[in-house]
Amino acid sequence: MSRLTESVSDNVDRMMKALEKAEAIVCPKCGYVYDDCEDKMNLVTFWGEDGPKEEGCPSCGHEFMVEEHVSRTYTVTEKGGES
Ligand SMILES: [Zn+2]
Repeated sequence: MSRLTESVSDNVDRMMKALEKAEAIVCPKCGYVYDDCEDKMNLVTFWGEDGPKEEGCPSCGHEFMVEEHVSRTYTVTEKGGES
């Protein structure tokens, strides 16, 4: 990390801010934030089972890997009304 130039660390700052929203996909090069519906269409899977995917930024064309993380929680309650 000691070789970071100022412009790269600016990019990292911008990226980290965008990544605070964990659901965001952000280009590591230009900071383009993916649109939820259109841009993520090919990246969202049901269980996230497809692993990291190669992706090209729609804005600058930079290629990077996207790994989707899926977590599900369940709440179980008694049906009720049957006593
Ligand atoms: Zn980009």
